[in-house]
Amino acid sequence: MKEISCKLLVIGAGPGGYACAIRAGQLGIDTVIVEASKPGGTCLTIGCIPSKALIHAAEVFDATRQMAGGRAAMGIRVDPPSIDLAGTMAWKDGIVGRLTSGVSGLLQKARVKIVSGRTRFRDGKTVEVNTETGQQIVRAETVVIATGSDPVELPALPFGERVISSTEALSLREVPNRLIVVGGGYIGLELGTAFAKLGSNVTVVEATAQVLPIYDADLVKPVTRRLADRGIRVFTNTKAIGLSETGDALNVEGPDGQQELPADHILVAVGRRPRSVGSGLEDLDLDRSGPYLRIDDRCRTSMRGVYAIGDVTGEPMLAHRAIAQGEMVAEIVAGKKRAWDKRCIPSICFTDPEIVSAGLSPSEARAQGYEVKVGQFPFTANGRAMTMLDEDGFVRVVARADTNLVLGLQAVGSGVSELSAAFSLAIEMGTRLEDIAATIHAHPTRSEALQEAALKAMGHALHI
Ligand code: FAD
Ligand code: NAD
Repeated sequence: MKEISCKLLVIGAGPGGYACAIRAGQLGIDTVIVEASKPGGTCLTIGCIPSKALIHAAEVFDATRQMAGGRAAMGIRVDPPSIDLAGTMAWKDGIVGRLTSGVSGLLQKARVKIVSGRTRFRDGKTVEVNTETGQQIVRAETVVIATGSDPVELPALPFGERVISSTEALSLREVPNRLIVVGGGYIGLELGTAFAKLGSNVTVVEATAQVLPIYDADLVKPVTRRLADRGIRVFTNTKAIGLSETGDALNVEGPDGQQELPADHILVAVGRRPRSVGSGLEDLDLDRSGPYLRIDDRCRTSMRGVYAIGDVTGEPMLAHRAIAQGEMVAEIVAGKKRAWDKRCIPSICFTDPEIVSAGLSPSEARAQGYEVKVGQFPFTANGRAMTMLDEDGFVRVVARADTNLVLGLQAVGSGVSELSAAFSLAIEMGTRLEDIAATIHAHPTRSEALQEAALKAMGHALHI
């Protein structure tokens, strides 16, 4: 049995783990990272990147189909297109391959030792790794747990055959005729919309009163309108009960009682749970916050020298949060004074249209006791939106009424995900409405709506 010792052991090479290991390596820390699957984790291999590749392919296919149907207003005519989903998936796999080998290269450049295999804790500072060439022991002064998350399985709808998670949905070889999506959250709506654009008949079953319950109703309205235009059926306040006796339909119960919805595939996307079973983590008996590992503002767990980052520590389960935690922990291990001091973690839902949010919504700000000014500027008054034939949505700014300090920025609309950088920067830098209003925003861009929203909050928008 081989044994190695190191200063820092990182378990899991997803966005949290690889960012932590790269930064630690840059800081000269003797670092080992262990990964059971491919470097890049959920995000690069079965999450953010493959889903956004599929969403983009579906958008291109859908736009081409609309032109072929004579519905394009721009005078472009094409023959009806067809989709070879296996080809789409091969293209997506190529992108994933480029990125995962890129991560390996970055780890090597930072002189991080990569061990392939699954870890099992012996104690808080020692793990066994089952590698292809036998068992290896890794001992470390400091351990970072970055093992990520798995999809939640509904007891009445176990994964298998027709019932799939996002992982299988992102590897389908044919477009399903009838797709039922259980869970109208991030994954359900992003992938549900993509499959509808690829030609599936999609039905969404959501337990709460609104799809995307984490966003406020005003932001979600343009999305639900587009779902309806596209023929996607949405059942809210409805729960999946289980498969029908024949196994080819889903039984659901909602305000109108029980009904049977025929399905070729049922995508269950009702959240994710920390990946901690079977790795000996249970035996460490670390404090939990619900099912997640409890951490403090330095990502320390309840055991000295053991840190946890990313999805295993809970919501928001986003890649950029995991990366920021990983970078911070590496610096702490190197002796730098760091603590979690971020003012916001932006979130984006890559639906049609997209939603982006940074900081507080108007109701969240009011709930925290602030008197607020809200400025909302619609894309119907934005020239760039008109030239792109997509005027749905708006940009909204939320500021303190007394000081004009920006507390939150949100938008819904085509392509607004790219506004997230401006939103986060504004909040992180403690911007006031006057700062945004006084910044020249290039014309013609959707970003002008940000400047106009700030002007509107101050009572003198120019273009509305
Ligand atoms: P992970 O990325 O899950 O990585 C954990 C790694 O640890 C894995 O590679 C795993 O193999 C490894 N591992 C686990 N246990 C062990 C063990 N015992 N030994 C060795 N290795 C182990 N987030 C966004 O910000 N934007 C998006 O657009 C987005 N889209 C998503 C789409 C989908 C379909 C899904 C499922 C998720 C999406 N997410 C998105 C969420 C994002 O993928 C996660 O927040 C992010 O991957 C979390 O990073 P992590 O490092 O905590 O864990
Ligand atoms: P989610 O929490 O976004 O949505 C789950 C939805 O399922 C909720 O609306 C919930 O009310 C509903 N639900 C729960 N139980 C149900 C039931 N029994 N029947 C019907 N509906 C039910 O979870 P997700 O979509 O699985 O995504 C998991 C996580 O992955 C997200 O929380 C997010 O952090 C991350 N993610 C992020 C992005 C992004 O950043 N664009 C994209 C995909 C996933």
